[in-house]
Amino acid sequence: MVNKSQDLYEKIVDLARRRGIFWTSFEIYGGVAGFYDFGSVGVLIKRNIANQWLKYFVYTRENVVEIETPIINPRIVFKASGHEEHFTDPVVECSKCKRVYRADHLIKDLLKINVEGWSTENMSKLIKEHNLKCPDCGGELGPVFNALLLFATQIGPYRGETAYLRPEHAQGMFINFPQVFKISRSKLPLGVAQIGRVSRNEISPRQGLIRLREFNIMEVEFFFDPEEAEKEVQELIDEVSNEKLRIITANMRMNNIEEPAEFTVHELIDKKIVKTPWLAYWMGIGNMFVKNLGIPLDKIRFVEKLPHERAHYSQQTFDQEVYTQRFDWVEVAGYAYRTSYDIERHAEYSGNDFTVFKKYEEPLTVTVEKAVPNPTIIERTVGKENFGRVMRTLSQMKQEEIVRELHAKGFIEVESFKLPPECFQLRREEVKLHGKKIYPHVVEPSFGLERLLYVVLEYAYHEREDKVVLKLLPQLAPYHVAVFPLLAGRKAEHAKMVSIARSIYKDLIKKGFRAIYDEEGSIGRRYARADEIGVPYAVTVDHQTLEDNTVTIRDRDTTEQVRVEINEISKFLVTRLGLNALV
Ligand code: AMP
Repeated sequence: MVNKSQDLYEKIVDLARRRGIFWTSFEIYGGVAGFYDFGSVGVLIKRNIANQWLKYFVYTRENVVEIETPIINPRIVFKASGHEEHFTDPVVECSKCKRVYRADHLIKDLLKINVEGWSTENMSKLIKEHNLKCPDCGGELGPVFNALLLFATQIGPYRGETAYLRPEHAQGMFINFPQVFKISRSKLPLGVAQIGRVSRNEISPRQGLIRLREFNIMEVEFFFDPEEAEKEVQELIDEVSNEKLRIITANMRMNNIEEPAEFTVHELIDKKIVKTPWLAYWMGIGNMFVKNLGIPLDKIRFVEKLPHERAHYSQQTFDQEVYTQRFDWVEVAGYAYRTSYDIERHAEYSGNDFTVFKKYEEPLTVTVEKAVPNPTIIERTVGKENFGRVMRTLSQMKQEEIVRELHAKGFIEVESFKLPPECFQLRREEVKLHGKKIYPHVVEPSFGLERLLYVVLEYAYHEREDKVVLKLLPQLAPYHVAVFPLLAGRKAEHAKMVSIARSIYKDLIKKGFRAIYDEEGSIGRRYARADEIGVPYAVTVDHQTLEDNTVTIRDRDTTEQVRVEINEISKFLVTRLGLNALV
């Protein structure tokens, strides 16, 4: 029975607990905020969402490969990436009850002002000006300060090295870029994808699946040559070119325009709304993907971040948001233009080469100036005893450096001797350049799996005559089909029905369907149970089956029943579910 006094969020949380989708973790010990367990049904729906993501972002993209890297990373990784310095949230503590709040959320709740990206000083000032108090106990609030969101641990049990649990997958892809590039035919553009767990030590999370401390991210780091982006995107864009996106640009936000404007992917590129065409390309794919999860287009929007709201590595960011009843618009994905920031930082911190050699179509002839040492004059200038040493050092110096110094200062200092231009013969030479080294740029689409699960459930949730029907699309349903034997009065007849139903169930599983078998309770109760977890079809073996080898198949959404021959069941399901062979 549906509880009419609950809002949609509460109904979903109730259903999720009752039917094994999700519930709060560690309940026997009082629970810990920000952690959720997923039951058998939840795991299946999540896996189906992840499979759809793989289909849209990896398997149907020729130039995207998937990898897997560790959750625990040595500290140096997040020093290099800048996370140790920047991955923080503003915190404020009540001086009386010691309760800790996320300062920007508290201000938004109490004053309805969006202070995302403000300095801690300005937030403290605002709290003082409005005389905000602890909502829990009315106590005085302290100054706002930044708290690091990285979970710290150590590698090695005794006096180990400090390490962090990754808050995103990106660094795993950046660190491995040279290796993956090499094994992927050394060609740009190249997408490197990853699905897996991340951890963020969120401050007092209280929004169910929306804000977790441990969750799954599905992410692509898409490496490309910025000089070739306009041209290369044209080769792939056909599929998404006319995809319509609802956009609120930073400009619109600054002019207080809250209603999104519709742009196609190619309009975003042509009108230069995006700073690189690849950003629009991936937003187009992301729009198709989220619609394919059952979210209507008018409940999806892309909101550009203002400069002060962007992460430290990003030149431009759009959040993809889905409208929810309880939480308003919720970010389900971020699309960031990370430029070459991350790989340049890892190059600097590790000393490794992260560049890509970009070959010119035709070799380029350029004139360079060379400074050829004149040994006789150099020996005269530095003396016989120093001559060998000076010549050795000179031979290790770069030609450009010698020429530059000679022109800039009128001498070059070697082993504390000042060598004037007379020590060299300066001459111009023509050389052929076959290419140059570049740092690829990166666009990153990054989805949170649990947030997607929540919004999928909101849009699938329906009620019919006081009962829940989860209208999940077939590709997301935990099971494609349920198989039931009817409860028959006579024992022998019942046994026959059970045996036929079990063999149908086994056959469907063997054929690759996700099927569930249920013989408990009345047939009405079994239909209701299947509807609640979103099983699109139910096959029932009944009296007539024993006579003519047909079963009834009931449609979850229309409750219509049709009779189908047993050996036609799988064909019927494939057609109705719109499945291809490998789903
Ligand atoms: P971000 O790197 O912050 O853009 O995060 C990427 C995606 O992960 C977001 O678009 C969300 O869908 C999801 N996400 C971020 N933080 C959380 C969280 N605390 N709990 C659940 N999902 C999150």
